[in-house]
Amino acid sequence: MAANADMVRAWEQVARTAQQMAADGLVVGTAGNVSTRVGDLVVVTPSGVRYDRLRRSDWVVVDLDGKQVHGTLRPTSELPMHLAVYRNTDARAVVHTHSVHATAASTLVDELPAIHYVAAGLGGTIRVAPYATYGSEELAEVMLLALRDRTACLLKNHGTITVAEDLDSAYGKTEVLEWLCQVWLAARAAGTPSVLPGYEIEHVVERIRNTYGQPR
Ligand code: 13P
Ligand code: ZN
Repeated sequence: MAANADMVRAWEQVARTAQQMAADGLVVGTAGNVSTRVGDLVVVTPSGVRYDRLRRSDWVVVDLDGKQVHGTLRPTSELPMHLAVYRNTDARAVVHTHSVHATAASTLVDELPAIHYVAAGLGGTIRVAPYATYGSEELAEVMLLALRDRTACLLKNHGTITVAEDLDSAYGKTEVLEWLCQVWLAARAAGTPSVLPGYEIEHVVERIRNTYGQPR
């Protein structure tokens, strides 16, 4: 089992990210949830607790089977989605929101039209997972399919999910996804946006992976 200090640090990051998403207007009330993986454990937000009220003692830690190992509050109702990511991918952080433009876009299409190249930074064209009830295993299953070879997808009539190697990166992807949806909605409201061809998005996926930003 990972050391307790690692777990406490992870909880601080989870709480900070959840507070940030509320402060940035990506969720209202108790919507959305955040988690990070530490070894074979998952530190996750509690269900139905306002993020501005989160305290140190509110931490929730579960194992990869969902069994609670720390904390007394119930974990997020979306635990099946978070666990599905950790069981099936290398991701170590998950952010789920109900951000306005992304949620609106999720009601309109089954795939977000690729009108801007930055979609490639999320792995390619953004898929919309079919609707399933919040908190259900079915939602976790359709989400996993929509996330294949991607680090972000939309959940139909629900919101967003992004995954990454750490919470800062997952949060950044959420911001990009919300921005992409806002741009598409604005373009769609003004006219008929032109869509980039699939081969160009694939080309940019490679370009970003290999040459964007500073050398690692
Ligand atoms: P929780 O408060 O249980 O995390 O639920 C919020 C949510 O977004 C459900 O989809
Ligand atoms: Zn939700």
